[in-house]
Amino acid sequence: MTLVNISICKWYNNAASPVLFFIDDFANVWVDTNGNGIVDLEEDWGYWKNHKNSSFRFLNEVVLNDFPNIKTTFFTPVGARVGMIENPQVKTVSKMINCDEETKAFFKSINDKENFEIAYHGTTHGKVGKTSSDFKQEWKLFKSIDEAVDTINKGKEIYKTVFGYYPKGGKYCGYEANEFSDESIARTDFLWWCRYYNRGLLNDKNHYIYSDDFNTVTSFDIKVFGKNEVIDIPSTVNGGLLTGIFNPNKKTLKGIAKIILKNYLLKKKLNEIEFLLKNNLVISIQEHISPARDDGRRQLPNIFDDKESLKFIFNYLKDKNVWYCTGTEVAEYYILRNNIKFIGINDNGFAIEYIGKRNLEKMIISIKIDRNNIMIIEPNSEIVFGDNGVFNIHVQDGLYKFVENSL
Ligand SMILES: [Zn+2]
Repeated sequence: MTLVNISICKWYNNAASPVLFFIDDFANVWVDTNGNGIVDLEEDWGYWKNHKNSSFRFLNEVVLNDFPNIKTTFFTPVGARVGMIENPQVKTVSKMINCDEETKAFFKSINDKENFEIAYHGTTHGKVGKTSSDFKQEWKLFKSIDEAVDTINKGKEIYKTVFGYYPKGGKYCGYEANEFSDESIARTDFLWWCRYYNRGLLNDKNHYIYSDDFNTVTSFDIKVFGKNEVIDIPSTVNGGLLTGIFNPNKKTLKGIAKIILKNYLLKKKLNEIEFLLKNNLVISIQEHISPARDDGRRQLPNIFDDKESLKFIFNYLKDKNVWYCTGTEVAEYYILRNNIKFIGINDNGFAIEYIGKRNLEKMIISIKIDRNNIMIIEPNSEIVFGDNGVFNIHVQDGLYKFVENSL
């Protein structure tokens, strides 16, 4: 007879939700929007590195400055990213991320940091047409599974020359795909992927971004696809969620109403995030690194237009029970929690076994135990203290022992 009840927490540290900050199109690109030959604020997508007026510096000094806990996952086209149209009036510089040693070192230094991760976002992003609506996204172009796999493998090699290993995750360009796409991701051994703009699907019913799940609870949670179960991370929050409230058009009645109703509107919009927290779903905040495009339009959402919105969301999350993580961290935790087997639980302790096929970097699982005043001694003799019955333990062979916490 056992008196101990152990359960696995849905998210690390028994958080209500994981929080991910996803920034698209971080690339070796500069769009000289005003044509003055100088990199001005908002114009580079990563090309200007960490220099004054660079987008990366703006991200760190303005958007993330007060939020050291936020973890950012960048999605990077590794080759020379194409523009938006065939004959642009605007001059653009676009190069591979491994074009020279200084560029390689810049991108690598970001991925090496604890709070950043660089994921895969295609080679060129697609193919331009006469107008921006003729643009064909990269995964839409592949006419066979072999063509898709070959291109991904070339892209993975470019990634490896910069970061030293193959990318763990990525995202379809423009969330667009065809019948070969999911198979191409599964075959090229990605751990995780972002397939859909789930939030946009529900708000605007953009059916061209192909998905069939319109249930808010299942659509905003992790899914898997392909034979080897690639983790599919949903896109659940637009970083510009509150931008319309912070930048109302003061010349219109609607704009004036927004100023008067500001607090009410903020609360109403934040219900989207409240819903995710309440249902223990993924909070993945979507952005672009730059608004600059060569067709004269602004890329939305972007971290410049949405800086107030983002800071408000990050502040709102500060006192919530959330787990700040990268795409790889949430994917690994999902795999771990679904592949843990408990052996011989009794009043003295237990053993656990990882039955998954994937090799994981961080083998830490959070468990909840319905006993007060205990500590756990791991097989390697390390002591783990609990917090309200929640323990974050390292998965390993051997016996985990319960010990009275007399401290
Ligand atoms: Zn993109």
